[in-house]
Amino acid sequence: MTDYPIYFAHDHMDRLEDLKRDHNSGVAGKILHMLVDAWIDAPTREQYEASYFGYDGFTERAVEAVAKQLRNERENSDWLKIIRTAADLRASRAQGLFGLLLGTEGGKLIGDSLSQLDAFHELGMRHIQFNWSMRNKISASQENEREPDQPGLTPFGKEVVSRMNELGMVIDVSHSSPTAISDTLNVTSRPILNSHSGSRELAPKLQNLWDDQIRAMATNGGVIGIHFCSRLVLGVNDRQAEITDVLRQVRYVADVGGIDVIGLGPDFILGNPDRDEIYTRNTSQDEITWTRGLESSSEIENIIGPLEAGGFSSDDIEKILGGNLLRLFSDVLPV
Ligand SMILES: [Zn+2]
Repeated sequence: MTDYPIYFAHDHMDRLEDLKRDHNSGVAGKILHMLVDAWIDAPTREQYEASYFGYDGFTERAVEAVAKQLRNERENSDWLKIIRTAADLRASRAQGLFGLLLGTEGGKLIGDSLSQLDAFHELGMRHIQFNWSMRNKISASQENEREPDQPGLTPFGKEVVSRMNELGMVIDVSHSSPTAISDTLNVTSRPILNSHSGSRELAPKLQNLWDDQIRAMATNGGVIGIHFCSRLVLGVNDRQAEITDVLRQVRYVADVGGIDVIGLGPDFILGNPDRDEIYTRNTSQDEITWTRGLESSSEIENIIGPLEAGGFSSDDIEKILGGNLLRLFSDVLPV
């Protein structure tokens, strides 16, 4: 197994067996996106659609999801640690434990309440990605980018940024509108994350970043997790990406923003027989594929050889695989 510290900025594999597989595959830790801002595994398509712009049930599902991971930690403390502080991060590294940062893809779980943000922090959450595919009470999403008034963070969203800075939580602007991303960069006092993305110049998808956005993330000291989902890597929906395509994304974003801005944002979500079919049905994503050779955490070390062959130094590779994310976590989390 590799000595490189491997961390994922974006991942949805939340069962104990998934975490065990990550750990056994050489992954040192990850941000677990426990929820999405729509009920992706709703029993019926109608319930999924009702959740798309609604708020019902998100807080309750979030409490359940946190409780599940707290239970996992309690029952598996010999290898699994929920990361609440920078000291936890150091301890988990020193002891070879799998470090889990509890997070969410979308902020509906806090509604419009800073008290709820405080409460989820108290429960152990250390990350919020403001948006998924739709706007919420925090921010406009990528889907709003073509609107003439260029919506960004709401006034509440600006308070959320400041409060997350104070609490020591990772702010994630993936899927947020371009104005929301620049609003966040203007308000935040800490580095921020864009957890699963890539170059929009290479792959024209709303979720990917233009060169000036990549540079702004670098100036902030932030990290961009490079996506492994084929359509984000390639910018087209009908082809499966290869590892060389991911390498092209890594190289491009590093050339524009510098090596210190790169992380891994695989966004693994398939591979759970109880969820796969419901998820792809609800979200109409039957055709979705991940990069060949990088389809699960068990394959993650496949990226190391191509990075070496591509001329990246071992210092660069360490930063790409997890060093930059470790820096971001240390900069953001409470001591
Ligand atoms: Zn996403």
